[in-house]
Amino acid sequence: MTEAERQQVTALGKLLAAERRDGCANRVASDGLMTYLKQWSATAVSAARLPAVQRAIGRLVGYDSMTVAERDQALAEAIEDLRSLFRTGNSSETVTSIATPSNEPIPESTNVSKVSRSLGSRQPRRQTVKTQQRSLVELELDAPLEQIAGVQWRLVASFRRLGVNTIRDLLYHFPRRYDDVSNRRMIGELQIGAEETVIGEVTDVRTIGTGPKLRVRVEISDETGSIEAIFFNQRWIAQQIRVGQTIALSGKVTTFGGKRQFSSPRWERYTPDPDALLHTGRLVPIYPLTQGLHENQARRFIKQVVDAMTPRVVDHLPPARRAQARLLPLGEALAQIHFPSDKKKLDEARRRLGFDEFLFIQIGVLQRKRLWQQEMGYAFTINEEVHAELLHLLPFQLTTAQQQAISEIFADLRRPSPMARLLQGDVGSGKTVVAAAALLQAIANGFQGALMAPTEILAEQHAKNLKQLLGRVRVPRKAPTYQQTSWQSALDAEESAKLAEMIAILGRTPEEDAEGARVALLTGSLSARERRQVLEGIARGEIDLVIGTHALITETVQFANLGLVVVDEQHRFGVEQRLRLKNKGYNPHMLVMTATPIPRTLTLTIYGDLDVSVLDERPPGRQEIRTRVVSRSEREKVYRHIRKQVEEGRQVYVICPLVEESEKLDLPSAEEMYERLQHEVFPDLKVALLHGKLSAREKDDVMRAFRAHQYDILVATAVIEVGIDVPNATTIVIEGAERFGLAQLHQFRGRVGRGNHQSYCFLISDSNNQQSRERLAALEQTTDGFKLAEIDLQLRGPGEFFGTRQSGTPDLKMARQGDTRLLTEARALADAILADDPELKRPEHELLRRKVNEFWAAAMQAG
Ligand code: ADP
Ligand code: MG
Repeated sequence: MTEAERQQVTALGKLLAAERRDGCANRVASDGLMTYLKQWSATAVSAARLPAVQRAIGRLVGYDSMTVAERDQALAEAIEDLRSLFRTGNSSETVTSIATPSNEPIPESTNVSKVSRSLGSRQPRRQTVKTQQRSLVELELDAPLEQIAGVQWRLVASFRRLGVNTIRDLLYHFPRRYDDVSNRRMIGELQIGAEETVIGEVTDVRTIGTGPKLRVRVEISDETGSIEAIFFNQRWIAQQIRVGQTIALSGKVTTFGGKRQFSSPRWERYTPDPDALLHTGRLVPIYPLTQGLHENQARRFIKQVVDAMTPRVVDHLPPARRAQARLLPLGEALAQIHFPSDKKKLDEARRRLGFDEFLFIQIGVLQRKRLWQQEMGYAFTINEEVHAELLHLLPFQLTTAQQQAISEIFADLRRPSPMARLLQGDVGSGKTVVAAAALLQAIANGFQGALMAPTEILAEQHAKNLKQLLGRVRVPRKAPTYQQTSWQSALDAEESAKLAEMIAILGRTPEEDAEGARVALLTGSLSARERRQVLEGIARGEIDLVIGTHALITETVQFANLGLVVVDEQHRFGVEQRLRLKNKGYNPHMLVMTATPIPRTLTLTIYGDLDVSVLDERPPGRQEIRTRVVSRSEREKVYRHIRKQVEEGRQVYVICPLVEESEKLDLPSAEEMYERLQHEVFPDLKVALLHGKLSAREKDDVMRAFRAHQYDILVATAVIEVGIDVPNATTIVIEGAERFGLAQLHQFRGRVGRGNHQSYCFLISDSNNQQSRERLAALEQTTDGFKLAEIDLQLRGPGEFFGTRQSGTPDLKMARQGDTRLLTEARALADAILADDPELKRPEHELLRRKVNEFWAAAMQAG
């Protein structure tokens, strides 16, 4: 290094160190780090050419979009690169291109994060420790990557960032996509606009321009002509490609100034063995990359591991089962998924690996279903008289769908094994009365019921309605089953005083009215004293139905005789909670209700262990909610509409996708929207703000105030979604509507149209995206949640279907959720296997059992 270079590198290093000390906030350089680097490269031309400097800058590419942790890591590594220039003995460092892994051994420590943190120190980090490393043939599938002889530690670190730690992880680190470059052509035949591969001799290499404008121009020729390839900002290419070499280029053929060219194509040195062509000349796998992991490098490393390890993969499916389902052997599928010989093989590999995922899921859910059904449960006798009285009290006739669901539930309740049923029904389809009918039967059989809602305010809503309804049904209850409980032994002489309080809470005592169902609300809003009273009532069996949040079954509550649990609006309630209940000694019937319309294929996966009833019919006489997609420039009109509605005494929701202002997205945040509406647009109206950063209690307070009509307008983020019922709210405005899933938009819309007033939904969007427009148009056209769910699944795929992943739902890497055929096949095989060997105890199922367990363990952890 010259003295000038030395100073320039020092300046750069100081800035990077300062940026790191500043928490990687990208503000130490006034115009951002990327701009600084560009300017620096333009002035420090010769220093910028040093390979170590190029490596350092290479690591920082994309800084703006990195997470803080990634920035920190990138900075640490870049600083270390710069430092290496000052180390004695290192000044003659050879060119190590980023695209070519050197055989740099990894340091002794296997803890890479520790290693990278120590980069700031001057410890020699390139210690060679060969003892831990072994060649691939000696390693097991579960060996960590750093044990592979000759592996570069940076590569290990980069894979770790992707969650790939072991050889097995790497085999299951599937390509993101494949580029079909299997058509090799002569240069003279190249078609403009096509993806092509050519092989030729390098006839010219030159570097043009400097700084960010730097390009390397490479020309190759064969018998039929020549073509140039331009590589932007990849200075090192000029060192790697040399005149006289034969190389292969793959990419899209474009034209520039009338000449055909490749722009930043994939390339590699050509070797005549066709299988040796990794990056070009075949279906090229494209892997998810991370900072520090380069495409060719990743591919070369994976190829090495795949070739060595896939022949040793043991299939967890016995050969007969595999043949039955027409599946590739696992090892072959794994080899083909990475480096497919052709499209047909790729499809077969995908099918096999997708099948496995569905199979693991289905075995898991079917086993759970079996377990649950083997349990002893309470067989109820259905009391038709009580049921008739309930129907008589209802101000309406049940729909056919409601009647059907009730008879399915009653059939379950009659059996001596616990019901596990999902009741699916669109918003407003009338799920509550179905639950009420079931709860009433539990009570008539001398048991208690529990109804759980996701929020306190929903619990209050249910308590109010059900007290009113069930409290009027005369229940010829069996003698209450008193059990000796801690509560009972705690009874003292002041019992009568407590009874008086009970009257205050329940409105009656068992003595006064042994007939109506006794309903109590248990929430965090009760005073300590009230709470104790209710808990006692539950423990002594004096309360028939208790309504609350999830805390009901998870906390201190002791039931005298819990017979039925109903879970409302909660698509996440599942296995774990059921286990908890069972562990508390209850084995009640269970009804889970959800208003999220889920297409059949997803139901099999998410609720594969539940039986399903569907309310696919709306109660008669509902008004359609008028829905319109409007552009942002039409907001004024929407505001005029809002004002009119408020003048008529109605209330309005305004939904925003974000809580706070975002620089990236040109969307109003809930906070901004609140400020604007309250202070500029409607200063005379009362506006409230609700977002997810509030505590559960604060949220409930805002909602209660809105329901009590203390506010005219509620500005909210997606937290509003859950089934809140404010019949006086008639208009909902959804900002940035294209940002939400269809199912979610439909849920939002279900917040209005709950009273007798005509209701309106405005979807504000300026998106020109074809798919977004289609989704929003679908909302204008139909209010059928199931139809919308199917459309959404088709348009967006399952990953985004719920907006976020379902907890406890395994992540599918290969299978497509919408692939009903494969799912059905996998379920059939799961059924067949379990019919033979319910607990997978046979030796030939040993590996399968382990795989299923691991798969679910991972899913539970992720959820
Ligand atoms: P959801 O399925 O969204 O929970 P609810 O149970 O809250 O729906 O019912 C919505 C409204 O429809 C309630 O006011 C309820 O009383 C009413 N309802 C339920 N079933 C019927 C029916 N068969 N006919 C008319 N109205 C009904
Ligand atoms: Mg409901």
